[in-house]
Amino acid sequence: MKGMMMHRPLLISGILDYAAEVHGHATIVSRRVEGDIHRTDYPTMRARVVQLSLALEELGVKPGDRVATLAWNGYRHMELYYAISNIGAICHTINPRLSAEQLGYITNHAGDMLLFSDLTFVPLLEKLKDIFPADMRHVFMTDAAHMPENTLNAFCYEDLLDGQPTTRDWPEFDETTAAGLCYTSGTTGDPKGVLYSHRSSVLHTLQIAASGFLTDMGRDARILPVVPLFHVNAWGLPYLAPMVGADLVFPGPNLDGESLWTLMEEEGVTSSWGVPTIWQGLQGAIDRHGRKPAALRQIVVGGSAAPRSLIERFEQSGVSVNHAWGMTEMSPIGSHGALAWQIADLPFDERMALKSTQGRRAYGVEMKIVGDDGKRQPHDGKAKGELYVRGNNITSGYYENDAATAKVMDAEGWFATGDVASIRGDGYLQLHDRSKDLIKSGGEWISSIDLENIATAHPKVAQAAVVAVPHPKWDERPLLVVVAKSADDLPTLEEIQALMLGSMARWQLPDDIVFVEQLPMTATGKISKLNLRESLADYVHP
Ligand code: ADP
Repeated sequence: MKGMMMHRPLLISGILDYAAEVHGHATIVSRRVEGDIHRTDYPTMRARVVQLSLALEELGVKPGDRVATLAWNGYRHMELYYAISNIGAICHTINPRLSAEQLGYITNHAGDMLLFSDLTFVPLLEKLKDIFPADMRHVFMTDAAHMPENTLNAFCYEDLLDGQPTTRDWPEFDETTAAGLCYTSGTTGDPKGVLYSHRSSVLHTLQIAASGFLTDMGRDARILPVVPLFHVNAWGLPYLAPMVGADLVFPGPNLDGESLWTLMEEEGVTSSWGVPTIWQGLQGAIDRHGRKPAALRQIVVGGSAAPRSLIERFEQSGVSVNHAWGMTEMSPIGSHGALAWQIADLPFDERMALKSTQGRRAYGVEMKIVGDDGKRQPHDGKAKGELYVRGNNITSGYYENDAATAKVMDAEGWFATGDVASIRGDGYLQLHDRSKDLIKSGGEWISSIDLENIATAHPKVAQAAVVAVPHPKWDERPLLVVVAKSADDLPTLEEIQALMLGSMARWQLPDDIVFVEQLPMTATGKISKLNLRESLADYVHP
């Protein structure tokens, strides 16, 4: 027998309509590319989103069309999220740090008909104009006064909105309709497109609203997303904030520690989300100022493993660290690091041990661990294997790419994450490595993440990465690559090994250390192990 409740489609437009009606007090602050600070609210945003949606329709955008963005975090970018999706078209956010070749590949693969760009990217667009789809039109996200000279025949964003009506009812369509498209950065092969639906995005928002991010944040949620709107929907914040009535503070292009510290201080930011390298930058600013930004209470860190030393330093300065794990393919949140309130007053060491894991799975995300023998492993905190996930926020395959899809979906419909993990009996997820970054020495696996976490805790180490280098006897051995805090005061291998011996076996320790001025980064701000391994191709063991 079926239940007798209504079935209303889960559409993204419902989030904005709700916020405009019931969260009128919330504010959205943006540091604009033009240089000033802009303030708005959800009712005003809805009116402008209506105008933009009507302009899109006048430009010929139809349901199913792909409309791309190349922009920093700001209110216009967020307006595009809603205006494009609310009329049944697909918002394709593009990472500007991709190579020219990748930008050409994904705009053509997606078949983008329009590209909305921040002014910062105009010189790049002029240079690359021949790589884009031939019939793609450009819109610059600014007003008439700031419109630059260009050969792209670009429209001006504010001119498009000007004079359009400010109210409309949104079209209703099936909740499985595609809403957004985001390509993974493609560290191996061409980037792969993940196509989110209205249903998956609304459910993902509800899942993260229920996942302890907000309890950690406290009552005054004023969130600064450092994680870009061009990278997996800024981890869901453009949907979460309006749903729960949070304020948003968008930082624009300046993401160094000092700029973030100042914006957080001036705007009373309580929570901020981003990758570990961003928080290392902010930690430097906190050291210089001698204190954290006054209102900051929480940071959410994910995208790569957060070293325990980083987590401890923030916690000691009164900022709760929520260590989350996820993937572009998962919308992206898979797990979160908020502690259950019943154990929130555990001794510091025990709390930090839990916070250094990748936390507990979000409601709606199922997980299994599969061993080398293809068998499902117990969740006992010891058995390691590849992590597979299943759920309504997880991709069922890549956009127009059957070959890549076949590699990640198993026969039971689980998605293979490519991460090696264990899960404890109490639900805590521990990531050990990406399977392609694991080090295999004499037939045994060594986790590069574990070694990096310890090395980063050394007071003379700014950043550390551990990669496998080929070895004649052991197949591979771990090599430690370090960016030192000061070139005049280098840490020694023996000092770092001594730290590692606290929790690792001697055979797992790196045999050598290499100092570099900086580590290669991926387009999403993570250390690029692939580039690092390539740059060490000529390495010879001492
Ligand atoms: P890409 O960087 O390739 O574009 P994603 O941002 O989707 O793609 O990266 C997802 C991957 O990042 C995960 O599979 C995992 O390896 C890594 N990752 C994300 N969060 C964490 C975390 N908290 N700890 C360790 N690794 C993480």
